[in-house]
Amino acid sequence: MAMIARLLPNLLSAFRLFSLHLANQNSQKNMQYDVVVIGSGPGGYVGAIRCAQLGLKTAVVEKYKTFGGTCLNVGCIPSKALLDSSEHFHNAAHTFTTHGINLKDLKVDMKQMIARKDDVVAQNTAGITYLFKKNKIDSFEGVGSFVDKNTILVTKADGTTETLSAKNVIIATGSKPTALPFLPIDKKRIITSTEALNIKEVPKTMVVIGGGVIGLELGSVYARLGTKVSVVEFLPSIIGTMDAGLGKELQRVLKKTLGMEFYMGHKVTGATTKGKTVTVTADTPKGESISLEADYCIVAVGRTAYSEGLGLDKIGITVEERGKKIPVNEHLETSVKGVYAIGDVITGAMLAHKAEDEGTYVAETIAGQKPHINYNLIPGVVYTWPEVASVGLTEEQLKEKGIKYKAGSFPFKASGRAKASMDTDGFIKVLADAATDEVLGVHMIGPRAADMIAEAVIAMEFRASAEDIARTCHAHPTYTEALKEAALAATDNRAIHI
Ligand SMILES: Cc1cc2nc3c(=O)[nH]c(=O)nc-3n(C[C@H](O)[C@H](O)[C@H](O)COP(=O)(O)OP(=O)(O)OC[C@H]3O[C@@H](n4cnc5c(N)ncnc54)[C@H](O)[C@@H]3O)c2cc1C
Repeated sequence: MAMIARLLPNLLSAFRLFSLHLANQNSQKNMQYDVVVIGSGPGGYVGAIRCAQLGLKTAVVEKYKTFGGTCLNVGCIPSKALLDSSEHFHNAAHTFTTHGINLKDLKVDMKQMIARKDDVVAQNTAGITYLFKKNKIDSFEGVGSFVDKNTILVTKADGTTETLSAKNVIIATGSKPTALPFLPIDKKRIITSTEALNIKEVPKTMVVIGGGVIGLELGSVYARLGTKVSVVEFLPSIIGTMDAGLGKELQRVLKKTLGMEFYMGHKVTGATTKGKTVTVTADTPKGESISLEADYCIVAVGRTAYSEGLGLDKIGITVEERGKKIPVNEHLETSVKGVYAIGDVITGAMLAHKAEDEGTYVAETIAGQKPHINYNLIPGVVYTWPEVASVGLTEEQLKEKGIKYKAGSFPFKASGRAKASMDTDGFIKVLADAATDEVLGVHMIGPRAADMIAEAVIAMEFRASAEDIARTCHAHPTYTEALKEAALAATDNRAIHI
């Protein structure tokens, strides 16, 4: 008896350990879900939250330590944090004296600027952790891959695995920076947007390959801090997919205010590093070769869909050869029933809000609803200063489609609000159907265009005419009055303030 009493604590603890082991085994195998989402970027996390709101038992698999994907960790949020910081510095250095504010010994503390950016990222990613908990979404850290269409294997960093059963799977694995085959990225001097968010000093010189959104935003950050930035672009225009007038105006303003240099129609042929210097070579439109030396070269030539490691072959999905996108039907379902794909990994604009709307769309589809996305009205924004924003058809597209249209423009130099804030560069252009006056496109470059474009999107969702916008009362003095004036100009050329 005495011996049993002595052994009892040991026996109990062994029993407890054994039960824990059994419980662990159970929790690591065959957990059943209505939906498993692979990837926690804006597509994946929004999709997961909407699934949970609709009563679906949901899990998210994310291979990185923090949630939020490209957007929150190395994309939209950190780039905007640095754009805001650098814009403050630029204004302090260049416009404050005109406002009557004099500063002494102004300098950049790059370490603090990066630390603040990291803090903004941390706050946002922690927000997703909170939302997952609030919505009772299970999360698994590791690489998710298909065993079969209803079974997802999660492989963790230490090699251990878990298996999840899912009635439906949403692939939201996003994208990665596109590399040029002849230009290896060393992540030290020849870098992508990811490394460009973490440069610890203000470079003297920088070459940006690509005059698209990401290249111009990151180029602006450093140009505002004093870096001499040269943009090399293959096409004849920067932000080439937007209305041509916007690219022309943006190039003019970035040159004027930030001293950025543009090498348009230039084809980059290579880049080499020696010590702390990188030399980029390019062919001019005339076929002559030039070389540009810089402290850093950012390669910003687009992004490629990311589906590596998913084991798509196991369920018979083949990605498109060009762009590596996962093919989906009009319901964002792949060729395999119950397996959906959303966001950057599928066709369409590589934008966070497009990914988010697709996450919601698929969740509601799985729940048996009949949602809708209006792909014609997904706004595009460039967070340079002035900001650029656009929705609907461009003038070039209208001409190409043979649609007769009226155009009305209003420059910010005629706006009282813009004069007060010294933001007089840019304009708003409204394009309306020549016969019906329905607004077909709105394109703007100017202060707070990123926020103002929402008014145009809503108007177009409700199929407003230019006259509808023109007759809507706009608060004075605001930048939005420029939209009303442009709509007045499009209605019958009757803008008031010009
Ligand atoms: C510098 C920069 C600035 C940008 N700025 C803007 C902006 O201002 N506005 C805007 O709309 N867009 C912006 N974008 C684009 C935006 O970030 C993307 O369009 C958006 O993040 C796409 O969302 P997603 O959910 O499809 O994928 P992602 O955000 O790329 O997320 C995919 C996630 O899936 C995970 N994953 C991949 N494979 C697996 C796997 N097998 N298992 C588990 N997890 C996996 C990845 O780790 C990642 O976390 C920017 C991008 C960059 C690079």
